[in-house]
Amino acid sequence: MEEKKNKITGVNGPINGWLDGHTYLIGLMAYPIRHSMSPTMHNNAFAKLGLNFTYLCFEIDNKKLPKAVEAIRTLDMRGSNVSMPNKKEVIKYLDKLSPASEMCDAVNTIVNDNGVLTGYTTDGIGFMKSLEDEGIDIRGKKMCLAGAGGAATPIAVQAALDGVSEIEIFNIHDDKWAQAEKNVKTINEKTNCKASLHDLEDKDDFKRAISECDIYCDATGVGMKPLEDMTLVEDPSWFHKDMTVFDTVYAPRTTKLMKVAQKAGVKHVLNGIGMMIEQGAAAFKLWTGEDMPTDYIRQVIF
Ligand code: NAD
Repeated sequence: MEEKKNKITGVNGPINGWLDGHTYLIGLMAYPIRHSMSPTMHNNAFAKLGLNFTYLCFEIDNKKLPKAVEAIRTLDMRGSNVSMPNKKEVIKYLDKLSPASEMCDAVNTIVNDNGVLTGYTTDGIGFMKSLEDEGIDIRGKKMCLAGAGGAATPIAVQAALDGVSEIEIFNIHDDKWAQAEKNVKTINEKTNCKASLHDLEDKDDFKRAISECDIYCDATGVGMKPLEDMTLVEDPSWFHKDMTVFDTVYAPRTTKLMKVAQKAGVKHVLNGIGMMIEQGAAAFKLWTGEDMPTDYIRQVIF
């Protein structure tokens, strides 16, 4: 990136008033995608910092993906976010992967360095940073994690890479069980973290793991529509006060799980908003080299 083109100074107009012949384009390639908060988040952050970037959504499915990724090179776009159904599919069109992306076998962010496309996954970084923002350090600690899907996989991988000592993963026997097995194998092979897989239907084992952990993270989406009034943990006595309870759901802001944890007097009870902002901030940093003004974004958008 040429530094001189990177910044427009002295302009405080609407976002469209900023665009010129030097504007860097960032995309979001997914389908469906029009509902996404990411364009609002990134464009507000670009405007706040006076960065000559713009972020647009493109409705891209697996079929359109090869040409869309080639367009990143052809149009000299700075990069793109990638979401479903393209997070795994996109890998074969990229040149390089970050270590976390390779372990997750998934990409949510592409960076274009002079035609060389590198894939990253920033959800796990966002998870860890959102804990750090609250003064919570889980390095060397034990985690109990429900789920093995698009959110849980990067959470487990990044936590393991960052030094969490043990992760007990619980999942139901659905189509994500094989991914859960893969996550455990990869973490045990490539990090110092000890990972194990457990059946979520075994409530005694689940209760034991929660009582022994420092952080319980639910990354299943139970607690979000259409399962809004549900939680995997109904009994506050399963929790202990010194732990952290983290729900990746961000709508509603307070899930049923969070209410149970609050009733138990749990010290730190978090929803997924911080993770959502910080995963965006990590991508923003990769594209622009700048720190996203996350406090501002939290006020303006969420
Ligand atoms: P996914 O479909 O990829 O994975 C869902 C996981 O939950 C799987 O492991 C599945 O086996 C399990 N699961 C599904 N239904 C279940 C049930 N009834 N009981 C127990 N387990 C069940 O979904 P995802 O993309 O990983 O999203 C999960 C949640 O995380 C959603 O609420 C999503 O909004 C949220 N999310 C938040 C962020 C963030 O930045 N805060 C980012 C991504 C996803």
